[in-house]
Amino acid sequence: MNAWEKLLNNARGRSPWIYCLNTGACNGCDIEIAASLTPRYDAEQLGVRREGSPKHADILVVSGPVTLRTRDALLDIYQQMPHPKAVVAVGSCPASGNVFAGSPTVFGAVDQFIPVDVYVAGCPPRPQAILQGIAQAAQLLAAGKQKDHVEVIE
Ligand code: SF4
Repeated sequence: MNAWEKLLNNARGRSPWIYCLNTGACNGCDIEIAASLTPRYDAEQLGVRREGSPKHADILVVSGPVTLRTRDALLDIYQQMPHPKAVVAVGSCPASGNVFAGSPTVFGAVDQFIPVDVYVAGCPPRPQAILQGIAQAAQLLAAGKQKDHVEVIE
């Protein structure tokens, strides 16, 4: 890794831009993600910026199981994100399908389609755990990201 790459990775680690995607959540996790980004928990104060386009994002924050209707959007959005990138799965649904597992319209876990770097457990997880998950993903990016390194926040 040259000095320029080190500088870029350091910037990603200290101020990650995130893109949030609901692939079929009940909205419980989305409410907690919103709480982590709004003034009570204030992720922006910690350097996290919510980005409206995946083309500018470092971290994809996914809530919900993958469904028949959202799989293509998930793949498209992931492909639009520049390298290096990390994925944070928020809640039990993107980890396993959770209560939606077995439905004929639900595929289930996100890692069937894209690699997941950090799992934040809970149904839904608390905003503090979501922030910790984003911070772990940012640290992976700052360190040059090991593909085989998976974090679990409980
Ligand atoms: S993990 Fe729980 S709260 Fe989150 S989307 Fe799934 S069912 Fe809803």
